[in-house]
Amino acid sequence: MTEIGKFNRYRQFRLSQPIQLPEISRLYSLEPIGLKTPFTESLSSYVLRLAQAHCVTPKKLIMGEIAPLVLGDRYTTEIASKGISALLPNSDAKPGINGMRSMTEVVVNALEELTLREDLSFLSLITWKGIIEEQKLFRSKKAICPQCFEEWKLRQKTLYEPLLWSFKDVSHCLRHNCQLTDSCPHCNRSLKAIANFSRLGFCSHCKNWLGSNITQDLPFEIDDEKHSTIENIGELIAVTPSVKSSLSLDSVIDKLKLVHAHFKSVFMRAMDIYQPFSARDASFGEYVKKLEIITEHKNEQPLNLIKLIVPICYKSKITLSQFLLYDVFVLSKTLQENLNIKRANNSRYWHWGL
Ligand SMILES: [Zn+2]
Ligand SMILES: [Zn+2]
Repeated sequence: MTEIGKFNRYRQFRLSQPIQLPEISRLYSLEPIGLKTPFTESLSSYVLRLAQAHCVTPKKLIMGEIAPLVLGDRYTTEIASKGISALLPNSDAKPGINGMRSMTEVVVNALEELTLREDLSFLSLITWKGIIEEQKLFRSKKAICPQCFEEWKLRQKTLYEPLLWSFKDVSHCLRHNCQLTDSCPHCNRSLKAIANFSRLGFCSHCKNWLGSNITQDLPFEIDDEKHSTIENIGELIAVTPSVKSSLSLDSVIDKLKLVHAHFKSVFMRAMDIYQPFSARDASFGEYVKKLEIITEHKNEQPLNLIKLIVPICYKSKITLSQFLLYDVFVLSKTLQENLNIKRANNSRYWHWGL
């Protein structure tokens, strides 16, 4: 090392092979929060968090970075100065953007290109497009748990919005046993999933903090079935990255066929013992009919999560992740045990346990 003037001069190194530098992403490659858990971050939350990380508004991030990739040749500087409604019309600025919309896919692709990540599709339900019916699955307004926000703030954790909060049937936070709210407690206006100047944890209209540790006057009781629905939606979110490669409508229908056979056994057993049907028996019969229609008529229609898949898991005493992850053999054995099926459904001596 020699000194030239006041600068140090170092020896030169000649490398036999050029160094392979990793590709650099245009935007920060932020890791999504809670991936593979029921509290996985939503796509809209990721957009807002990415904007905050770059110290820009969601409008600047969406119209300046995402829009050019989405619009290609149609992108002009005039569009860049417009609000996000020029790219995300009203319906796409709602929690439905976290579902299976075509715009969801477009935004995921653009974000993956900008961040060089490959896991952003799991922040939405896009993986389930064509398998699960989208209609009425998502809220039209953003809902939040004020107590989650308050808790994360106190514990100095990163603020975010779980994908779970986007679902219409998720009316409660099971962590705090409180109802989610879809309007600002300060200005009473409804909350949008993404707005031009949204900031996580704050109202995009009056800019006030949305968190609160005030518990509701009456402890809210939710029945087991409702509780199970919320838990199962969380499980669906958690298992999506693990089941993606093996997923198809046919594979889910094959499992429904199995459930159909087991439910039919339970129903036949109830008929066999010459006793008046209980409401429970009748409801098994109802699902036998429903499943028969779905499994026998191959109409390739996406399946209803809330009215079909979740209730049959509840009735079968299995979780949604067991339904999705178990192979047909293990699933059959579990159903058999849970439904107390000891013999084939055509046994005349069923009720004698023979
Ligand atoms: Zn909460
Ligand atoms: Zn407000």
